[in-house]
Parts: sequence; C-alpha cells; structure tokens
Amino acid sequence: MRTAVFSTKSYDRQFLAPAAQAAGHMLTFLEPRLSPQTAVLAREFPAICSFVNDYVTAEVLEILAAGGTKFVALRCAGFNQIDLEAAGRVGIRVARVPAYSPHAVAEHAIGMMLALNRKFHKAFNRVREGNFALEGLLGFDMHGKTAGVVGTGKIGAIVAQLLACFGCDVLLYDVVQNAECAAVGRYVTLPELWARCDIVTLHCPLTPATEHLIDARSIAAMKPGVMFINTSRGALVDTQAVIDGLKSGRIGYLGLDVYEEEADLFFENLSERVIQDDVFTRLLTFPNVLITAHQAFFTQTALAQIATVTMQNLTAFEQGNELANEVRAVGGKK
Ligand code: NAD
Repeated sequence: MRTAVFSTKSYDRQFLAPAAQAAGHMLTFLEPRLSPQTAVLAREFPAICSFVNDYVTAEVLEILAAGGTKFVALRCAGFNQIDLEAAGRVGIRVARVPAYSPHAVAEHAIGMMLALNRKFHKAFNRVREGNFALEGLLGFDMHGKTAGVVGTGKIGAIVAQLLACFGCDVLLYDVVQNAECAAVGRYVTLPELWARCDIVTLHCPLTPATEHLIDARSIAAMKPGVMFINTSRGALVDTQAVIDGLKSGRIGYLGLDVYEEEADLFFENLSERVIQDDVFTRLLTFPNVLITAHQAFFTQTALAQIATVTMQNLTAFEQGNELANEVRAVGGKK
C-alpha cells in the first residue's frame, strides 16, 4: 500500500525500507514532522506512518481524510499523541506497535539508574582528561535498597525482575496487578511506595489519570534523596515541581528519557541553536540529572520489530483483515 512516512530519520529508512519491500508496500519517506502545515504532503496516500512526536490532532486528521487517507500506522506503542475520537469521526483507522522490545526500555531504565548512581558519565570524562581522583563519584549498592515500579505492564514487569536480580526490595503499584510481578515484588499503595522507596521508576502510560502523577505533593511524600527515573512519557511529571525537588534535595538523582515539551527538541540536532526552553535548560544545570533524548526504545531488536509489525498492520488494513493492533476511542466502534 502507498504510505507516506512522516518524521523519517536515517534509521527509520534502514529498517522500514527492507521490511516494506518484503511485504510489498510502497513507502515514501518524508522528513517533516506531521502537522497541519505538512499533512497535505500525504494527499492521495491511502495510509500514513507516524511517530511519537507527530501530533495527529483533529485538524491534521481532517486534512488527511480530505486527501484520501484512511489509515494511520503508528510506529510506536504510545497513542496519546493521536485524537482517536477525531480519527473515528473522519473515518480513519489507527493501529500501533503495541510491544516491540520491552527489554530495550527496561534495560535503558536500569542503565540510567547505574549511570546516575556510579556516575559513569563523569568518570568517562575525568579519566580521559587524566583525572583519576574519586572525590564526587561515591555511589551506593543497589543491593538491599527499596525500588518502586509504577506501572507493571510489559516494561515495568521486566524492570521489576531486573531490580529483584540486583537484590532490591521491589515495591509495585498498578491499577491492575500482574501475577508474574507479584512473584518478585509486593504491590502497595502509591503513598507507601513514595514513602519507602530509594528508587522510583515510572512505567505507566500517559492518560488523564496519570498526567502529572509526579507533582509537588507526590515529591514531598518521597524519601529525601530519592532516585527518580522516567522513561515513560514526559507529561507524567510536572517538570517545575521536579526542579523544585532537585533544588531542595528531596530528589537526589533524576534520570529522564522523556520530557513534557520534548516535541520541539528531541530527535533533532540542535547543537548550533540557542535552546529557548528555559525549564529544560535549567534541568541541564544540575550535576545529579541525566537526560537522554527518548532513546530508551532505540535498539536494533526494537527497530526491526517496529518495522515488521508496522508492515503487518498495513497489510491487514489493505486486505481488510482483522486489525489486531487497532486503537480507537473508548466506546468507539471497531
Ligand atoms: P503496558 O500497557 O504493557 O503497561 C502499562 C501498565 O501501566 C499497565 O499494567 C497498566 O495497568 C498500568 N497503568 C495504567 N494506568 C495506570 C495508573 N493510573 N497507575 C499505575 N499504572 C497504570 O505498556 P508498556 O509496554 O509496559 O509501556 C509502558 C510505557 O512506556 C508506555 O505507555 C510508553 O509511554 C512508555 N514507552 C517509552 C518508550 C521510550 O522509548 N522511552 C518506549 C516504549 C514505551
């Protein structure tokens, strides 16, 4: 099926092009992000393929529908960036890649914990400069610490297992309990998790219920010096409250792979530009903050799986087969 691929990077091409050839789909790679200004580029394409920071708003969907688009293949798991009600209204169906490599994200979250704790990023620079002093690099044993996992789905379950392997006492919170996870940790209430954990890591989706789950109140309820990791979605966190928590010392370590306003920053090389986001630049000034630019998913395994499942979604739609990975508005008809 002819498909316009938005927000194309070299690595998208590398994995999507061979998968499309094998599946018999014709992809047109477009570099711009999908927006009301660029949606016309998809005119007469029956399908488009978009990524996490392509905001598929009602306005964008109306332009796509007017141009003849009937299908949006999201090459990501999260779908908070698409207005599903509007998609249903204009007759556009949507499918996603529900799981590509939960291990990729889980391993990145653990990597952030280790890097922040043992300060690998600082040690790397020091040793290259011939500075072999250890002052300022003091870490702690993960073994014996209490670690809290919020959201125990595919990714959170792996993080819980890995933390248990380190010898952490694992506390869990989810609105739906996962029996597999209960074998390696103990489900508790959120207030108990905040109060008891030395490390807190988020693995729940962004929904109206989880937006700003981490705010001034939840931070105040956490242990002083807590390590906080977010590899899920930026808007789970009130960034200003986190900055206040870092300034007061309540947050002792912060690892972010996602940021509330990342759409204007991440996935681009802005090294020659002046970053206008003062909240983001403030975050960069703290010595105990490690930020990666939404790269937790970024492994060969994950990109290959994303390409394969995206092609399966396009084929299922084209052939009128059941769309196993369809997402639609709550209450919307399939
Ligand atoms: P999943 O659907 O398997 O698990 C999500 C879990 O969160 C479920 O168990 C669900 O019950 C739980 N949940 C829902 N509402 C909750 C609430 N109010 N409080 C606590 N838990 C709640 O999803 P997953 O594959 O494990 O992915 C988790 C999140 O990771 C995704 O939503 C996405 O935002 C993020 N993600 C990030 C990257 C990255 O590169 N940084 C890549 C993939 C996914």
